[in-house]
Order: sequence, then C-alpha cells, then structure tokens
Amino acid sequence: MSTKIIQLKTLQDNYAYLLVNDSTRQTAVIDPGNAKPVLKALATENLSLTHILLTHHHYDHSGGVGELKKYCPEAEVIIHKDDAARLAVTADRRLQKGETIDFSPTSIQVLHLPCHTRGHVAFLVENSLFTGDTLFTAGCGKFFEGTATEMHNNLKRLKTLPANTNIYCGHEYTVENLEHAHQADPANPTISKRLQKARLTQADGNPLVPATLALELASNPFLRLDDITLQQQLKTSNELDTLIALYRIYYRETPQPS
Ligand SMILES: [Zn+2]
Ligand SMILES: [Zn+2]
Repeated sequence: MSTKIIQLKTLQDNYAYLLVNDSTRQTAVIDPGNAKPVLKALATENLSLTHILLTHHHYDHSGGVGELKKYCPEAEVIIHKDDAARLAVTADRRLQKGETIDFSPTSIQVLHLPCHTRGHVAFLVENSLFTGDTLFTAGCGKFFEGTATEMHNNLKRLKTLPANTNIYCGHEYTVENLEHAHQADPANPTISKRLQKARLTQADGNPLVPATLALELASNPFLRLDDITLQQQLKTSNELDTLIALYRIYYRETPQPS
C-alpha cells in the first residue's frame, strides 16, 4: 500500500478523504464539502493538493472546492462530465466512462454509477473504494436522478469487487441504516450483531466508516437482493422488487422502477 488515507469529518455527517502518496507527495481530496478541515489537515501534514476529486455535484460534497482552489490553485478539479455543469466552480477535467486518473506511483480507477446523480462516480484506489452517496455502510443512496434498475446495475457491479475492499462512503449513516436493515431482515444475525456493536462504537464517538465489502455483503440488504429469506420477509420474488421494497423501508418513497 503506497497510499495513505486520512478521514475527515465535514459539515453535519459528511466525510471527506485525503489520499497521500508519501513518496511523491501527490495529495488528493475526495468530496470536500467544506474547506476548513481539509486545509487544517494539509497544514498539519505539510501537504499541498494536486487533485480535487468529486463523486458528484451535490454541495455537501463540493462546497469547499472554491476555497481550496484559492490555497492550492494547481490542484486539478475532477468530476464526471454529466455532473460538471452543475458544479459551482469550473471543472479542470471532465470524466468519461471507465477512466483512470494517474496518481503516481498508483492510479485511481473511476467507476461511473449513474442514479443518485447522472454523473455519480466511485473512485477505486488499491483496495479502497470511495462510494460517495451511491453505496453507504449498511445502506444505499437516494435515487435522485435515476431508476431502481440503474441502481440495481450499480450494486451488481460493486458486488464483484474483492471482498477485502474497504468501503469509504460520503456520510455517517451506519447506525440508522442498520436499524432499517434490521427492520427489513430481522432474522439476519450479522445485522443484529453489527447494529449492537455499531451503537456502542458511535456512543464512544468513533466512526463506523470504512467497512469491508465482506461485512457489507453479509449485512447490507442492498447487496443481498437475491437472498431468499430477505425476499420472503419483503414478500418479493426478484431482485428489482426487493430493491424497491427496501427503498420504501429506508426512504418511505417508491422509486421509478425503470
Ligand atoms: Zn448526494
Ligand atoms: Zn451527500
């Protein structure tokens, strides 16, 4: 592992992340909703930003970009082309499908996952996946600009990554998501145990992000749409209907199926 990850709390419950290559001093920030904690961490570590990576255009993920550019004008602002026009600042690079970003000596792989927004992407760096508002620990983001079918495709794709992948998402929603997960799948012992443990961890003031994909596969119902017990519980018989039923439990809304 050549990339160090520094996890920062921003705004109410957002996370921003610094990626640092100790040898080359290349430094990226992912989803700076607010510049302040990022600038503080850069000063502490004596770093300057080379990349500003955005999973999507929403302000709670990008609100700090303008101020960061003032301090680090050489930092390249990178976002998917379908979200770039709605960013408050001008993007330096607009991502297309399936690109990689050079982050010497490693590279960052871009996964286009449209649904929460049209240009939502995840960034894969070594065994760390930065999922923004698409996949949450024990949950899934809102389908603001897409359909259940699109999110289903995104989830199927994420499930194929190695089980030891660490999931770094854009918000700390773990406990409330596990409460919804427990409601949806009360017989799942991994969910009950994870919920109990998560409440204690949160009470101690500690983050519940990241989580491994292995843990998510066992206890995030959005990654378990083919599970027979879950389907019986939700009275569904296929993955898409299970996804829609889960969405209703989590968000009390019915999404567009396709
Ligand atoms: Zn969002
Ligand atoms: Zn968000």
